[in-house]
Amino acid sequence: MTHAKHTVILGAGLMGRLMSLALLERGHHVDLYDAQGSDAQGSAAAVAAAMLAPMAESAITEMSVVQMGRYGLQRWPELLARLKEPVFFQQKGTLILWHSADAHEAQRFHQLMEQTHAREPSLEKPQVLDARAIESLEPSLSQRFQKGLYLPSEGQLDNAQLLKALGSALYLYEAQGALSLHWHEPKALGDFTWDAPSQEGLVRLFDCRGLGAKTQWSELRGVRGEVIRLHAPGVQLSRPTRLIHPRYPLYIAPKENDLYVIGATEIEVEDSSPTSVRSTLELLSAAYSLHPAFAEGRIVQMNTQNRPTLTDNLPCMDLTHPSTMKLNGLYRHGFLIAPALLDCALEWVDSQSLKLSQSLGLKVLGPSDPPTFMHGVRREA
Ligand SMILES: Cc1cc2nc3c(=O)[nH]c(=O)nc-3n(C[C@H](O)[C@H](O)[C@H](O)COP(=O)(O)OP(=O)(O)OC[C@H]3O[C@@H](n4cnc5c(N)ncnc54)[C@H](O)[C@@H]3O)c2cc1C
Repeated sequence: MTHAKHTVILGAGLMGRLMSLALLERGHHVDLYDAQGSDAQGSAAAVAAAMLAPMAESAITEMSVVQMGRYGLQRWPELLARLKEPVFFQQKGTLILWHSADAHEAQRFHQLMEQTHAREPSLEKPQVLDARAIESLEPSLSQRFQKGLYLPSEGQLDNAQLLKALGSALYLYEAQGALSLHWHEPKALGDFTWDAPSQEGLVRLFDCRGLGAKTQWSELRGVRGEVIRLHAPGVQLSRPTRLIHPRYPLYIAPKENDLYVIGATEIEVEDSSPTSVRSTLELLSAAYSLHPAFAEGRIVQMNTQNRPTLTDNLPCMDLTHPSTMKLNGLYRHGFLIAPALLDCALEWVDSQSLKLSQSLGLKVLGPSDPPTFMHGVRREA
């Protein structure tokens, strides 16, 4: 491979598709490899609820993810506008509710979000709702909850529609000869060599294999997540609703056509076997306790996948190896932070700058140069 802009991308899940498209738009010739087929069924992205909730997530993650998430929320509409196929995206906020038995946990959750707001006042402050305010947002929940919290600017998108729309955009480039798609071809980093040395800073291989990179990134682990998709026309919820739950952050995300995603369990084990009875009971009873009309819903799908997660549960851009960029560790925030990671990666590709990475707090490893790199992030000279 000698062409200056001949680029290899491993993994056609969320990050690999976004990265491929952006590089094709920049005139690269791309070879895209995936271990699975074009439907992305091997990816965590195919299972995700695709909630875009930076403030709600601040109760369980670091400020850098919150900042990247806020960036992502603003950036998604621009990225989606470039696609020919429509992708459901909405920004009607997140509603947070709890049953009285979980009031202490709700108070803790609220305090954590307040702390985030105090640290960064430009982030939205959770609004406290009474029963009437809950009813005006979601009339079908009338009288069921006395108190709630509301984050008006949070959003969500449809993961399946996004993966399909990105796939269709890639096929257009394939038809023009700019892209070679290699489905069902698992690859490792060592499978690629170049017969000419790289120009300084030129990345030739992007590793976006998620958990598939584990054999070459020992800190990676999978965190099991289970979601259930229901068709429930009797339920009329218009925005993602989090139910404070003692075991995991649980949400009910309404999609188009009366579909609801109930998720997600978070279990510290790497296991993609089918959804367990326990998780099914917990997810469905949580939905039923939110709205009794879920009882008449129909189970459309039950899915399990492992979230690609690094030891610190934070995403990382690894530039340690010359010519190679690894983007991984997106954990439970892939859709939330992918636009930020994409733009950080492109800034490096375009100008070998890490300004955006620094300002958002993205962890960057290498290139190893102690005077200019500190805590893995490059300092301005
Ligand atoms: C249950 C669940 C719920 C989630 N909910 C949300 C949510 O609400 N909001 C949010 O922001 N995020 C959510 N996520 C997280 C999000 O899905 C992930 O962070 C994101 O998909 C990671 O993107 P990725 O591109 O790094 O990996 P993936 O999307 O997993 O893609 C990796 C790709 O690499 C391919 N691959 C693997 N090995 C190889 C190989 N050797 N060669 C070539 N290709 C290979 C795979 O087939 C796959 O297509 C959720 C995840 C799960 C599991």
